[in-house]
Amino acid sequence: MHDPLHPAAGFGVTAPANVLDHIGRTPLVRLERIAAGLPVPVLAKCEHLNPGGSIKDRIALAIVDDAQARGVLHAGMTLVEATAGNTGVGLALVAAARGYALVCVMPEKMSTDKRTALAALGAKVVVVPNAPLASPDNFRNVARRLAEENGWFLTDQFCNPANVRIHEQTTAEEILQQTHGRVGAFVAGAGTGGTLSGVGRRLKAQLPAVRIVLADPLGSALADWVENGTPGPDGSYQVEGIGAGQPPQNLHREVIDGVERVSDEESFGMVRRLVREEGLLVGGSAGTNVVAALRLAARGGLDGPVVTVLPDSWDRYRAKPWMQGWDS
Ligand code: PMP
Repeated sequence: MHDPLHPAAGFGVTAPANVLDHIGRTPLVRLERIAAGLPVPVLAKCEHLNPGGSIKDRIALAIVDDAQARGVLHAGMTLVEATAGNTGVGLALVAAARGYALVCVMPEKMSTDKRTALAALGAKVVVVPNAPLASPDNFRNVARRLAEENGWFLTDQFCNPANVRIHEQTTAEEILQQTHGRVGAFVAGAGTGGTLSGVGRRLKAQLPAVRIVLADPLGSALADWVENGTPGPDGSYQVEGIGAGQPPQNLHREVIDGVERVSDEESFGMVRRLVREEGLLVGGSAGTNVVAALRLAARGGLDGPVVTVLPDSWDRYRAKPWMQGWDS
């Protein structure tokens, strides 16, 4: 009888390991239907398949490992973070496995599914208004204040260099291995900037001709900042986890060669196509990234495939207006 778990069946069965050992080493898939006929392939890294359902598992583990190694984080302490939700879920996994308490400060725009997931994982969730960085109510300012007032450890994904570093050491390294060192362009949105800065820096060190491109939601101020050094107007948009009114410290402008602006409508339309046509169960920012990747691939002039990331999973957006009506 066929035993799918027998090593000879080719499923790559490995010895049992802690859930944290399964962060990263995600598959890279070719978008065979959506990108058919373009001059170069479009390849997408399935970060939604991380244990916590997003790319942010990588930085959650890296930031805690780094703080432990530096001796600034001790057993039983409380972690606090400003999060769109995904870093919170990653930190909740790490906190559970390592014995920390966790407080997550989230803007009210973020999906209730993410709040529910965080609460289920044992994190305390503080919801604050969608306020600009200049306001004391902004999620990053509230997290910093809570850390100072209570002696909690601010994991600080927006500034912590361990964020950028883990993408250089793992995400970029995996992409180089999975493409045999051939990448024409890498494109991604920026929330903290960790993905784009870290992957961009490592790829550029290896491949001088590679183009590093920011995919920015229409309404975010980051695209203008990349192009001319001054943030654009701080508008609103529905895609979660990417774009900002002010550039975060972990977004390194010098590694970015260009920008693609993507509307909510284009992003959510592409998520539906990724689900239906490619079987990829991903969230809104994956749509933004893939819209931008397709534009780059179609324009041509690249020395290799366009690579992007699918940052998170669709299951955290089921209650969102943009996902309604998918059953029709
Ligand atoms: N997509 C989603 C859904 C996210 O939550 C995030 C992180 N905020 C990103 C993309 C962007 O990743 P980064 O912080 O590395 O720029």
